[in-house]
Amino acid sequence: MSEKNLPKVLIVDDSELIHRLLQMRLQNERIQLLSARSSTEGLLMAHELKPEVILLDIDLPKMDGFEFITRLKSDPQTQEIAVVFVSSANETANRVRGLDLGAVDFIAKPFDIIELKARLRSALRNQRYIRVLEQKAQIDALSGLGNKSYFDKRIEIEVGGSDRHAQPLSLVYCDIDHFKSINDRYGHLFGDLVIEEFSKILSGGRLTDIACRWGGEEFAVILPQTTMEEAFRVAEKYRKQLNDLVWPEHPGLVITSSFGVCDINGCESPPNSKNLFKSAENALYKAKENGRNRVEFFQKKTQLSTK
Ligand code: GH3
Ligand code: MG
Ligand code: MG
Repeated sequence: MSEKNLPKVLIVDDSELIHRLLQMRLQNERIQLLSARSSTEGLLMAHELKPEVILLDIDLPKMDGFEFITRLKSDPQTQEIAVVFVSSANETANRVRGLDLGAVDFIAKPFDIIELKARLRSALRNQRYIRVLEQKAQIDALSGLGNKSYFDKRIEIEVGGSDRHAQPLSLVYCDIDHFKSINDRYGHLFGDLVIEEFSKILSGGRLTDIACRWGGEEFAVILPQTTMEEAFRVAEKYRKQLNDLVWPEHPGLVITSSFGVCDINGCESPPNSKNLFKSAENALYKAKENGRNRVEFFQKKTQLSTK
């Protein structure tokens, strides 16, 4: 593992001695050690560098460790970071207060370095488990694509990024046609296979494209840096690929999907993730109304279509 991929541990302490001691005693651990000499510096570093664990002193000038953790835990960007108090203020009341404010552990100073290392390893292990579970909770098991919860998170991030960098951003929203009758006629297992195959098509685009299973037989593909015209062509490619897919189990069967396309500049105002989604969904309804197996733009007044 390169240095860059090692988990980061941030020490927030005003004692130079503690920094030197920990730097020396933890130098062979597979971690990147970061040091902050004040709470303000610590909060900035936590924000910028997103360490896995913070070893936090209580007695700090200006902002003490309790205030530090309160601020850390109230910021969505830093609230997942595990905090381990390392303090000589280790009376029961302080320990309880620290843990109640969200710390995962409390180590008394002076500490036994072997125990500190073991507790640090335990905190890092738990953080790793949490990451794995978080990732699993965002993936749809059948298709392997991101699920709705992942979509909701990513669309916010991508809309924010497109706004900051004045870049286009498009959304393709699609729904397999007459899927209920595919299930009824050929069975649910075959229906599941259709979902898997369509998912492969939707994830075959650019590396930066984000294909998600929004629910059931509905999918959303976020296309960063893509205008509505380009997104239309992408959706048209997906449409054709599914339409042309041969199903060896059922020769002659043609399965299709309808698509709605919109970009952040052309959606209902104000341009935000909700309106982008609503507008793409609206375009999808139009595609269904206009006969299915087609792509529709969202347009505030009239609709353009293929086929
Ligand atoms: P339309 O063309 O208007 O979209 O019609 P439709 O039949 O596709 O739409 P409808 O919403 O009536 O039916 C969707 C079906 O998708 C019903 C549901 O049982 C099925 N479905 C949802 N999730 C899954 C799944 O994971 N596997 C399978 N096999 N079927 C699913
Ligand atoms: Mg549906
Ligand atoms: Mg459908």
